[in-house]
Order: sequence, then C-alpha cells, then structure tokens
Amino acid sequence: MPSAVCPGSFDPVTNGHLDVFARAADVFDEVVVAVLENKSKAGLFTVEERIQMLQEVVAPYPNIKVEAFHGLLVDFCAARSIKSIVKGLRAVSDFDYELQMAQMNFRLAGVETFFVSANPLYSYLSSSLIKEIAKYGGDVSGLVPDILLARLNAALAK
Ligand code: ADP
Repeated sequence: MPSAVCPGSFDPVTNGHLDVFARAADVFDEVVVAVLENKSKAGLFTVEERIQMLQEVVAPYPNIKVEAFHGLLVDFCAARSIKSIVKGLRAVSDFDYELQMAQMNFRLAGVETFFVSANPLYSYLSSSLIKEIAKYGGDVSGLVPDILLARLNAALAK
C-alpha cells in the first residue's frame, strides 16, 4: 500500500491518535501526520510545539513523518500524490461529520478515507477533554504519551 495521511489538530496528541497512526503505519508504506494550522483558532500549543511533540512520539516508527498543513487537505494530498486519508472513529457522534468530510474529499479530488475503529482503551479521549482534566489537576498519565505530561502542565500554568 502506498502513502496515507492522518490529519488533525493534535493539540495535544493523545494515545488515541497514536494508536491510529501505528495501525495506519502497519498497513500503509508511509504515513504522514498532517497538523492543521488554523490561524483563526489559537491552540494550547503552537503548531511548531505540536509538531515537535509528534515527532518525538512517532520516532520509533520509521515510516511515519509529521508535517503542517493549511488550506484544503486534498491539496496537501495532491501535492504529495497521496490518495488515502486514515481517521479514527470513536463513536457514532464522530460519524456524521467524518462521513460528510470523506464524501466531500472524494468529490473534490477522488481522495479516499479509511476509518479505523478506535481502540476501546482510548475511545473516550479527545484533546479537549485531556486539556480540561489536566487544567483542574486530573491525572492524564496513560492517556497521553509520557513525554507530554510535564509540557502539558507547563502550558496550562501559563
Ligand atoms: P480531537 O480534538 O477530536 O482529539 P483531532 O482533530 O486532533 O482531535 O483528531 C484528529 C482525528 O483523530 C479525529 O478526526 C479522529 O478521527 C481521530 N481521533 C481523535 N481522538 C481519537 C481517539 N481517542 N481514538 C481514535 N481516533 C481518534
């Protein structure tokens, strides 16, 4: 199988995201994790910080790389001759939006979207819930990569 892209905000990356990347990397020759640069929405971490953290956590996977993207995901795919997107589906609540996006991306450029069923260990995780819990001192260890724990607390303390 050729290349696939795993897009998202990853503010910050969670173990649920990492599970999807690893499974995609098992099936596709190369996986590009594409970090959305959204100028109108500031995150907890800058895009550069997110990319740095992602690069550290995917370092054990030789066929996963990390890049930033803005604009249309299908343009990012076309520029790299990538024809596949891989996304995780956590619950029915993800489905409506993901189906709509998948159909639009196919309509725009013939790019296919493949879904992996979220690992039940992490299917209740979202980046926003992680930030909310950590903000109030909740323990998120085991839910995000260990290298993030100190950085998450430091960013939230600002
Ligand atoms: P979120 O804020 O929802 O965590 P992202 O936009 O960074 O968001 O997530 C990118 C994609 O990763 C989502 O569209 C979803 O397909 C997938 N994803 C997010 N969290 C999980 C999870 N816990 N398990 C599996 N897939 C996930």
